[in-house]
Amino acid sequence: MTVTVLAIIFIIIVLLVTAVGFKAVIKQGKKPEDINKERCSICQVQYHKAELIERQIGDHRLYFFCGTCIGSLHNELISKH
Ligand SMILES: [Zn+2]
Repeated sequence: MTVTVLAIIFIIIVLLVTAVGFKAVIKQGKKPEDINKERCSICQVQYHKAELIERQIGDHRLYFFCGTCIGSLHNELISKH
């Protein structure tokens, strides 16, 4: 009797973990309208790809920079002189 209860509890836990894991996978996947959107690597704000500058640094990593961040980087550079 106890074994049956434990087995049922175990199955429920396995199902819960599967459901949570599945939800996490869905969350990671991009929605169709987000395919052309990326986050700025500096401020993490999401923009349309057309509004971002894309740079590959190293072999794999792609970085995106928004106009606001590029502007502030530029200002930082100018203020050094
Ligand atoms: Zn930015």
